[in-house]
Amino acid sequence: MADEAQTFDLICIGGGSGGIATARRAAAHGARCAVIESDRLGGTCVNVGCVPKKIMWQAAHAADVMERAADYGFSGVAPRHDWQALVSARAAYIERLNGIYARNLDKAEVENITGHARFVDPHTVEVDGTRYKAERFVIATGGVPGRPAIPGGDLGIDSDGFFDLRDRPERVAVVGAGYIAVELAGVLHELGSEVQLVVRREQPLREFDAAIQQAYLDSIEQGGPTLINHFTPAGLEAAWGGYALHAEDGRSLEGLDQVVWAVGRVPNTDTLGLDAAGVSTTERGTVPVDDWQVTNQPHIFALGDVTDNPYPLTPVAIAAGRRLADRVWGGQPERRLDYRDVPTVVFTHPPIGTVGLTEAQARAEYGDEVRIYQTGFVPMDFALAPAEAKQRSTMKLVCVGEDERVVGIHLFGVGSDEMLQGFAVAVRMGATKRDLDDTVAIHPTSAEEVVTMT
Ligand code: FAD
Ligand code: NDP
Repeated sequence: MADEAQTFDLICIGGGSGGIATARRAAAHGARCAVIESDRLGGTCVNVGCVPKKIMWQAAHAADVMERAADYGFSGVAPRHDWQALVSARAAYIERLNGIYARNLDKAEVENITGHARFVDPHTVEVDGTRYKAERFVIATGGVPGRPAIPGGDLGIDSDGFFDLRDRPERVAVVGAGYIAVELAGVLHELGSEVQLVVRREQPLREFDAAIQQAYLDSIEQGGPTLINHFTPAGLEAAWGGYALHAEDGRSLEGLDQVVWAVGRVPNTDTLGLDAAGVSTTERGTVPVDDWQVTNQPHIFALGDVTDNPYPLTPVAIAAGRRLADRVWGGQPERRLDYRDVPTVVFTHPPIGTVGLTEAQARAEYGDEVRIYQTGFVPMDFALAPAEAKQRSTMKLVCVGEDERVVGIHLFGVGSDEMLQGFAVAVRMGATKRDLDDTVAIHPTSAEEVVTMT
């Protein structure tokens, strides 16, 4: 059997962001590559992550803008939203992307194998009874939504289920405190649902800079999901009149049409046969790697969400994969991903953009050398809005040392999502506060505030 197995230089297990990027780059360097994908090409990002999420965010953003149109003299704007029409259009868009991904693999001459891969020995995987061999492997199997191990934890939906919803639920509890919880809660709220954002501690987004956490809290208090804090779920019950979500302290949220669990993700490693390959995993099921994406087996690499990568984001999985391919097959021995200064956006309403160190991280690392610049303002989007509807933006620069090198930029407000990328380049290049000061502002924008802070 082993003699008959098709043999490759590289097999990427997982046809998501990381696996596809690695295989295509390695193939461009001349390696004979295959990608094995058990589900739809494109992985989480394309099918149940970034892409459908951004479409939903875009719909919610449109609702938000329409609500503000009256401030600018429009009348008769009373939109009715068709959730099913949105979901169908979104599905068609994603199907086109699936096709583009398949064609791109074809063009790159990467073999596209469909099925669930499982190692049978360190150089062989089996897919539906067929064996494939490779000199090297990349494990890029990503993860799936997790659920709490409590009675009724299997009820309700997770982020995958959110994208399957055929109707918009009226009364929803979104449980969780990370990106996914605040993003899905925001979309549902903007599109008209009554949303309770349920966190087990004081507030969500605890890993973000304190200024961003506060700005987000202020914004939802002004008009957003209702925060239910210090609520640790102990059970979910399907009852007459809707779900009831019970907390450890005895409180309950009753009459919910839907409960969305957004309590973290679980890596896809349990059915991968990693024992047969001799690849070790952590207690959480992630695959440990060194700075070069190498597992404990020198010919097996891992990247993206299946690792303990501090930024489980699509561009990070792609960047790690491309650099790995450049290093192993492209003759660039020093090439690897530097996981510092990764910019990231949370698609709340308005969005959050952040790169580099938070103030707390900077103070822990640099002590008194830290200098903070912070501003708050009402962006021109709300210039004509009534006082109670004016949404504030917050921006913070974290600088260190005598030359005030900018080590962190934290943005909350309209446009932060599109604003951050360029400033992230500046941070990577070692920009100082003086460099920002010396950059002529673009007026009138929100972005100009980043270069005019005093
Ligand atoms: P994945 O994209 O998850 O790909 C792994 C693939 O491996 C899957 O297709 C899976 O089917 C396949 N697979 C698993 N096991 C096997 C096996 N044994 N055999 C064959 N195939 C297998 N990131 C951003 O940058 N921006 C965003 O806006 C954003 N929004 C998100 C919103 C949501 C709701 C979610 C859930 C995630 C979001 N992310 C976002 C994160 C992003 O989707 C992931 O970081 C990214 O997809 C990780 O890529 P990956 O290649 O590691 O894994
Ligand atoms: P996260 O791990 O970021 O957040 C989940 C949070 O839920 C935990 O931090 C925890 O917060 C809380 N939690 C955990 N268990 C429970 C529980 N039993 N009951 C109540 N709350 C609980 O996971 P996400 O699933 O939100 O996102 C995963 C990753 O996907 C993100 O880190 C991000 O990198 C990526 N992503 C990126 C997006 C983007 O780029 N815009 C969008 C969506 C996802 P606490 O400890 O405070 O209670």
